[in-house]
Amino acid sequence: MKQTYLPFSNPKLPPGAVFAAKKPGVSITGYKSRKVMFQGVNGEVEAKKWVATLPESKTKAPSVSKGILPANFASKNVIGSDEVGTGDFFGPITVCAAYVDAEMMPLLKELGVKDSKAMKDPEICRIAEKIMPLVPHSVLLCPNPKYNELQKRGMNQGQMKALLHNRAIENVLKKLAPVKPEAILIDQFAEKNTYYRYLAKEPSIIREDVFFATKAEGLHLSVAAASIIARYKFVQAFDAMSKEVGIPLPKGAGPHVDAVAAEIIERFGLETLTKYTKQHFANTEKALKMVKK
Ligand code: MN
Repeated sequence: MKQTYLPFSNPKLPPGAVFAAKKPGVSITGYKSRKVMFQGVNGEVEAKKWVATLPESKTKAPSVSKGILPANFASKNVIGSDEVGTGDFFGPITVCAAYVDAEMMPLLKELGVKDSKAMKDPEICRIAEKIMPLVPHSVLLCPNPKYNELQKRGMNQGQMKALLHNRAIENVLKKLAPVKPEAILIDQFAEKNTYYRYLAKEPSIIREDVFFATKAEGLHLSVAAASIIARYKFVQAFDAMSKEVGIPLPKGAGPHVDAVAAEIIERFGLETLTKYTKQHFANTEKALKMVKK
């Protein structure tokens, strides 16, 4: 990591630090304890690039806030929600909430619903098409122009995600009424208090029986199903965007993404790139530099 950040290194090291670096919107500090801190508006995005490179065993085991989940949670009737597209330079943040009851579980398992992190996109899309008619769900996308507008007004990704999760869950609750789920499980992206602080101005805030857990895809099939449907809708939006631009767009936020972004700037201008991307990501600057060369 120190090597990677060498071009951005900050010679002033805080106590216990091995390296420090500054990039647009993020300060990175690596400590002797092997802990690395990412601070600033782009901190989450920058950190995610590294998380993606870790083997599954090195990433954290599931953790659950609001105490522990109720007993036999996996067999309860639950609305689960999850999002995709937060670490991708191109494409919209996509959130899905889905309801799975105990009766539906055997069929979903048979159709291949499981943690989508272990699956490639074509398989995810095949399963999504089969389960969407069976599972009451709501998918919400934040198109890139909207994302960029909100981001410029000072809203962070966590806030946007919180708004989308809360609304998607509300939509599913309305579809189910008068049936009520036994619980709601959100794949955790923020502490519970932070999540509700983000929602403070919302007219309707879902609080009853809401649980938060990381790696929640493995804790209830509803989150696994939500994750699959969200990924499917994200891939669809991505394909539509690729068609519109006439260039196959890459996922993620790595160097291959910068190259395509630079090509779009050269051929169509920065404004067109902005229409399809999360503008504040460091990729914008990197692509602009590549064009100038
Ligand atoms: Mn998630």
